[in-house]
Amino acid sequence: GRIVGASADGEDQAVEAALRPKSLGEFVGQERVREQLDLVLTAARARGATADHVLLSGAPGLGKTTLSMIIAAEMQAPIRITSGPAIQHAGDLAAILSSLHEGEVLFLDEIHRMSRPAEEMLYMAMEDFRVDVIVGKGPGATAIPLELPPFTLVGATTRAGLLPPPLRDRFGFTAHMEFYDPAELERVIHRSAQLLDLEIETAGAAEIAGRSRGTPRIANRLLRRVRDYAQVKADGVITREVAGAALRVYEVDDRGLDRLDRAVLQALLKLFGGGPVGLSTLAVAVGEERETVEEVAEPFLVREGLLARTPRGRVATPAAWAHLGLTPPQQTPG
Ligand code: ADP
Repeated sequence: GRIVGASADGEDQAVEAALRPKSLGEFVGQERVREQLDLVLTAARARGATADHVLLSGAPGLGKTTLSMIIAAEMQAPIRITSGPAIQHAGDLAAILSSLHEGEVLFLDEIHRMSRPAEEMLYMAMEDFRVDVIVGKGPGATAIPLELPPFTLVGATTRAGLLPPPLRDRFGFTAHMEFYDPAELERVIHRSAQLLDLEIETAGAAEIAGRSRGTPRIANRLLRRVRDYAQVKADGVITREVAGAALRVYEVDDRGLDRLDRAVLQALLKLFGGGPVGLSTLAVAVGEERETVEEVAEPFLVREGLLARTPRGRVATPAAWAHLGLTPPQQTPG
């Protein structure tokens, strides 16, 4: 996978299990979400009840899966993990729901990508802890009602706006996860370094944090690549110099842009004078698919204020010229 990509690849999945905070107290940042969630869980525990359904929205790698596991741990409940795309038919969902234990947490990642019939089954399950299992086909089909034990659904989505309102409304608590600031990412990096038994200096952690795109998953991945470099090319200690040199090898610049991000900006500035230029033209200029430029490179460039999407095409901001050390062309007066 891409070193600054926010979704998890195979290696991440193996390491992430070891690096996951196990309690709300260990979870770095997201103060408001943590405080609210703590109230929801403490109150449910005091009532001896199952916690309300929780919707977590936010970009990949910000800690949604981690939080769902913490919810289960804090409720001393087991957890089942699945995802919207894995549920093709309502029957798949019925099978999962009917095998849940009382109080169990069901984590449903990418909940906005569930099929429509499954979604409708979920409405009733969330509200009444009941599903209708359809047996047979056509006019002879019958609905057999099935009681479910109370459970806590934790749904995760990249954007809460993608959910149909009836589904969104059935969550008792919705939390929006923000990107992390550099100080928080530094804490994530120090914590991970300790768990991985690495020696890291404050300036080394800061260097990695600044290039991690506000995302703990990326911070942890960059830390592992810097560790490799520190082992092979230095004495193992992660200083600012070692971190900087390592990330230059991986072509991650001081703002977290990788080779593709910079290629897009460079084409926009050098070939098209900063735009506006159409997406397709820009994609051809960097030799990539349109979708790759639009979905992989652009969101971060837009978020960083380096590129703007306008009705007439893509436009570079003054910050983009500054970042690549180029001078914008003079505006002709009048
Ligand atoms: P998501 O489900 O949103 O894609 P994950 O929960 O899988 O993200 O988190 C990705 C990685 O980042 C995990 O290794 C996790 O340990 C780490 N991580 C995420 N949020 C935090 C946090 N607040 N504090 C410490 N580590 C975190």
